[in-house]
Amino acid sequence: MSRFPNVQFMLSVAAPPQFPPDHGAEVAFAGRSNAGKSSAINAITERKALARISKTPGRTQLLNYFELKPGERIVDLPGYGYAAVHAGARRKWGPLIDSLRQRDSLHGLFLIVDSRRGMREEDVELVEWAQPERRAVHVLLAKCDKLNRTEQTALLRESKAILGAAGTVQLFSAHDGSGVEAAQKALVAALRPQAQAVGPRAVDPPA
Ligand code: GDP
Repeated sequence: MSRFPNVQFMLSVAAPPQFPPDHGAEVAFAGRSNAGKSSAINAITERKALARISKTPGRTQLLNYFELKPGERIVDLPGYGYAAVHAGARRKWGPLIDSLRQRDSLHGLFLIVDSRRGMREEDVELVEWAQPERRAVHVLLAKCDKLNRTEQTALLRESKAILGAAGTVQLFSAHDGSGVEAAQKALVAALRPQAQAVGPRAVDPPA
């Protein structure tokens, strides 16, 4: 039985007033275009074509919300999420991305990184955007089936070093199913209300 049997498309957000009410829990999924984000969402929710909705005309530039069950959502960030956090698309998309970041219900970020690229500066910027001191950050090293064992081990070690205490990281393949169950568990944990207040993050000194 699927962990998320009732997952369904909820709404697309083009401007801050369109966000769903800031109640419950949501986790953002972000990744460069072609990183494997849609395949990851489909594998984690065990729905073959759920994330295809985000790629339909008119929705590719929007934040697309999927309800896992009442009060629990994932929000699929288009590729520009990177640019908005970084520089280029800041003026156009900054307010939307900033509004998302201000939501109390945003409990976590899943960052999808192509295993062949590994984590780069722009990924670290997105991790920082998510305020990892108050939110769960989990990195999926996607398409790991394209690496051999030695490469996988090296990539995992290197990614852990880059992330430090800011988050957790795992290998993932939508194609062969590696890491899907671990990712599902990480998502469930990130959605939990107390996810924001566990571990060393809770004892950070006030700003
Ligand atoms: P998105 O643009 O980040 O949503 O990426 P997609 O999920 O659409 O995937 C981009 C491309 O990578 C497609 O050609 C997929 O078939 C391929 N891909 C996605 N996940 C995997 C995977 O786990 N293994 C391999 N080998 N290819 C993958």
